[in-house]
Amino acid sequence: MGKMHLLSLDREALGDFVVAELGEPRFRARQIREWMLRHVETDFGRMTNLGKKLVEKLNETADTSVLSIKSRQDSVDGTRKWALETRDGHVFEMVLIPTETRRSLCVSSQIGCAMGCTFCRTATMGFIRNLTLGEIIEQFVLATRFLRENEGPEARLSNVIFMGMGEPMHNLENVAKACETLNAEDGFGIGKNHITVSTSGIVPRIREWAQRAPDFKLAISLNGSNDTIRSSVMPVNKRWNIEALMDAADEYIQLTGQKLTFEYILIQGKTCTPESARELRRIASHRHCKINLIPLNKGEDPSLQPPSEEEILAFEAILKQGDFEVLRRRPRGPDILAACGQLAIPLKKVA
Ligand code: SAH
Ligand code: SF4
Repeated sequence: MGKMHLLSLDREALGDFVVAELGEPRFRARQIREWMLRHVETDFGRMTNLGKKLVEKLNETADTSVLSIKSRQDSVDGTRKWALETRDGHVFEMVLIPTETRRSLCVSSQIGCAMGCTFCRTATMGFIRNLTLGEIIEQFVLATRFLRENEGPEARLSNVIFMGMGEPMHNLENVAKACETLNAEDGFGIGKNHITVSTSGIVPRIREWAQRAPDFKLAISLNGSNDTIRSSVMPVNKRWNIEALMDAADEYIQLTGQKLTFEYILIQGKTCTPESARELRRIASHRHCKINLIPLNKGEDPSLQPPSEEEILAFEAILKQGDFEVLRRRPRGPDILAACGQLAIPLKKVA
């Protein structure tokens, strides 16, 4: 039997573990949780208020860490990308994106991805497995530790985006619990509107998410302005087309009262044409939404190219006639393949 990874246990489950497995009173769970999440301490021996006996028991039965840092790459723009290795020998990535005022962490929810979007390097890995709750939360711990070592003991993450590897809605329960831990007072204390989950458009899961986690931010990767174009770059559109997706989007908006973000990738001659801009404007009009435009970061497929600056400006000009907000996402860390859609680990055989 392996040791229990304590970051995989939510508040309740940690309490149960402490009582049932360690034979300790439940308040110990609160102390352990505070050490692990608020102080991002990984060494039981340094959890000074636990007592020697309990520390011994914890060392025998439990773990605070199951990931090891395989590498870190630093972009000229300050973006940093980590390759993290799991106990079963898989590698996935997370990206820390600093700005003047923010410390945003882009986390993975899966190793690889099953969705097969043609513009995305992660898709080339295929789907390997879901990350556990503990593996998701350990990303927040590792990044926070890094910030504190570099910027001082008060440093903390300001924003978290589930835009790394994987389709978060295919790991819904773990992602929802991780969001709760990020937000919790006895967790990382990050505001709900600073936590964003991005989905390729798994329609039934969007409905489920609206019930399960209505207070966090949701982004939907639209990426095509009509079904022909969207299906040609996102196979998921053949299962749930734009109409079905918009039904779910409207339900989400109504149920949660949240403003929805539509992400829209700009590909030369494909998604970035004046006709597409008009179609997209029609889709977004009269919806409580904003549009994030993401110029394509080049991947493996030579037929997909980013548009010129003039083409982007022309597209934006049409879109901005609408009654919704339009933002352009600037690529961060392209020199280290850390930008949107560039995360991928060359497949290797596990011995
Ligand atoms: N799997 C989730 C979240 C990760 S991708 C999803 O697809 O929504 C985060 C955003 O990056 C998505 O909107 C996706 O469409 C976009 N993206 C993927 N590959 C890209 C690329 N090569 N260039 C620019 N954006 C890309
Ligand atoms: Fe998966 Fe998102 Fe990449 Fe599509 S864009 S393959 S859903 S990670």
